[in-house]
Amino acid sequence: MALNIVMLGPPGAGKGTQAARLAQRYGIPAVSTGDMLRDAVQAGTELGRRVKAVMERGDLVGDDLIVDIVRERLRRADTAEGVVLDGFPRTTAQAAALDAMADGLIVLDIAVPDDELVRRLSSRRICRDCGAIADPAVAARGDAAACARCGGTLVQRSDDHEDVVRERLKVYQQRTRPLLDYYRQRPSFQSIDGLQSTDAVAEAIAREVDRMVTARRQ
Ligand code: AMP
Repeated sequence: MALNIVMLGPPGAGKGTQAARLAQRYGIPAVSTGDMLRDAVQAGTELGRRVKAVMERGDLVGDDLIVDIVRERLRRADTAEGVVLDGFPRTTAQAAALDAMADGLIVLDIAVPDDELVRRLSSRRICRDCGAIADPAVAARGDAAACARCGGTLVQRSDDHEDVVRERLKVYQQRTRPLLDYYRQRPSFQSIDGLQSTDAVAEAIAREVDRMVTARRQ
């Protein structure tokens, strides 16, 4: 069975960082809908023009649009062995659509309280060129900092400014948090304490994924 993993959690919980680690560990791609949309905005495509304003105010783009994008992405051959989904699903309608597209989902929720999220998001920097999330210690060096992966310039995401962050957290509470109830009863759901160090969170996640993979083989 394919290893289809969903990373749930509020913005700033560490989904992107942990999705990249998991993808590397299991040799499957990480698919971030936020990255796909940001790429489209940066490239100025038709899709990018449609979603730019919605993203900048911290709202969600339409379910049908994002479901179509993910469906297309999951048709590509590199997801045959599995995929780590980061930022999708974000509504119960998206979750229902995903259930029809992928089986054997493992759902991991990274739990972090709101005040910590605001702190993390306002200081977060990403690479302007490759989109990688900078290590917070590197980002704290300010203008002297560069992307560890490609050497590119680190910038703040336009939706990481504090007013937009608060809007995104509100949208998360209203539209995405109900997904916890959607998934909670499943044996393949696990919530992880996201207040630990990045390495400790990665270890906890790997332990849970290994345990769930072993359980379903039996
Ligand atoms: P992220 O990088 O996951 O925080 O996503 C950045 C922005 O992209 C979000 O604030 C939304 O505007 C949009 N977005 C990403 N994924 C989704 C999704 N699954 N459903 C709706 N909007 C999304």
